[in-house]
Amino acid sequence: MNPITALTDLLGKLVIEHGSAVITEKNLAYLRDQLVAAEKEINRLTSDNENLKIKVANLADENEQLKKKINDFHKTPPKKEYVCPRCHEPAFKLIKQLPHPNKFFANSGSTVRLYRCEKCNYEETI
Ligand SMILES: [Zn+2]
Repeated sequence: MNPITALTDLLGKLVIEHGSAVITEKNLAYLRDQLVAAEKEINRLTSDNENLKIKVANLADENEQLKKKINDFHKTPPKKEYVCPRCHEPAFKLIKQLPHPNKFFANSGSTVRLYRCEKCNYEETI
């Protein structure tokens, strides 16, 4: 082979190899950046998930406490007479007890109570 042709071929190979090395390095740098960004995102999402788990646990506890309060309230025997919210006479009496209009509460045995004032006839369902 002609030495000049051989040298030209060698230089050509060098340029190609050097070029691909530069491209590979750029790809690696890009991938490294992507990895760092993905790791940050994973850390952020992990932290968010932990916070949400705590919130869900707190809300589940609060929900249980509220359900218990509602059940306790509806299981407490009603008073027979109250002060009327309209005329303020102690004549606000329990007329009847009905199943709760909300099926969820009705199915758990909850009821609503109809009160009527014997003085002014004001009625209220509690
Ligand atoms: Zn009244």
